[in-house]
Amino acid sequence: MKTEIISVGTELLVGQITNTNAQYLSRRLNDLGLDVYYQTTVGDNLNRLIDALKAAAARVDVILLSGGLGPTEDDLTREAVCRFADRPLVRDKVAEASVRAFFERLDRPMTDNNLRQAERPEGAHPLPNDIGLAIGWVLELPDGKIVMALPGPPRELQTMFERYGRPYLKARLPETKPLFSRYLHFAGIGESQLATRLEPFIQEQDDPTIALYASVGEVMVRLSTRAENEREAQIKLQPLMDAVIRLAPDFYYGEGESLTLSQILIDTLIRRGETLALVESCTGGLIADTLIGVPGASAVLRLGVIPYQTIMKAKVLGLDAEKLAEHGAVSTWTAERMAEAGRTLALSNWAVATTCVAGPTTQDGQPVGRAYIGLAHESGVYVHEHTVSGDRQTIRERIMRLALFELWQAILQTHQ
Ligand code: ATP
Ligand code: MG
Repeated sequence: MKTEIISVGTELLVGQITNTNAQYLSRRLNDLGLDVYYQTTVGDNLNRLIDALKAAAARVDVILLSGGLGPTEDDLTREAVCRFADRPLVRDKVAEASVRAFFERLDRPMTDNNLRQAERPEGAHPLPNDIGLAIGWVLELPDGKIVMALPGPPRELQTMFERYGRPYLKARLPETKPLFSRYLHFAGIGESQLATRLEPFIQEQDDPTIALYASVGEVMVRLSTRAENEREAQIKLQPLMDAVIRLAPDFYYGEGESLTLSQILIDTLIRRGETLALVESCTGGLIADTLIGVPGASAVLRLGVIPYQTIMKAKVLGLDAEKLAEHGAVSTWTAERMAEAGRTLALSNWAVATTCVAGPTTQDGQPVGRAYIGLAHESGVYVHEHTVSGDRQTIRERIMRLALFELWQAILQTHQ
């Protein structure tokens, strides 16, 4: 069933609050097997809300409304649906009793506008609000389309949806197969580069479907299919998974919705009983921060140093000051020595060092985005040069991701 979520609230349009309700509902509806085709946001305005309802009814089967069910003048969802569906507004007796009881319990006088929260379109099926006052409801239109209204406050919306809204929809769903997904993670490859390689697949494929998600320095590919069960899904997904990984095998690092590179690194090093030191100049602790976010990191990460000023690279790490001046702080030589010094200081199996030009201006004749990542291990010291784009923060994050990825690849290549 095609579905649209209409979020109601001027606050959303002016950017005062984030639309977490739409995100929440989208996720839950997809879990249920409903296809969310549109998310619409509309202000607290009667005519525009009616227009949004008309547009939605013309293109989907199920409409979910969030917000605008409160007691005040600007809460217009009830009225808009009534006008749109040409139904009178009625007061729900059960809901009215609970609004009255609420004020009696508090021993507070109730203003009449509170009873608005007990109103619904005639013929709508009420959805109780167990933790607030405004009831929700579901209205089935003559053509079989469904309009469900839920309150705006996220806790109320979620409670009502889980307890009453979701079961209601589920009962009306034709038997759809559940959705199964695989999440493939890539690092060290740009989104557009991977997208180009994926293009023929994306064009040919409609089951399983392919979607690409990019964040700084990482790309995730999601493959999804509907199937009776996990086994059938696996049979449909595995060949495509293999094919997608083959497009960029050197950049692939694993599968799983919540998998992260830091998680893999920590787990792998723990399993191998190996340790790590970090010497971060331009990343300034970003690598340490992401690794320490993983439970168990203390078994692996022995030391993190930020010798940010060039002189500190000599003083703290013992790098030769003359050579440092000769090669420059952002250079192969320096990255190599930094990594080595880190490994020596911490007596660790591995050390990673970063030095780069984060910008906004060039440094020692090196362009913005130029980076050297050093890796020290008993098998030797390696340095890779990169040039990445972006503003200062993006550059630093990209270098952080690249450093993690290089470490991971180096670990894979060394056998214990
Ligand atoms: P109330 O009875 O509080 O007026 P309501 O059903 O009328 O509830 P709104 O007035 O639209 O809902 O929103 C009430 C509050 O709920 C907002 O101030 C905001 O904090 C939160 N809220 C509303 N819509 C959303 C949304 N889409 N995502 C996240 N929070 C929301
Ligand atoms: Mg309101």
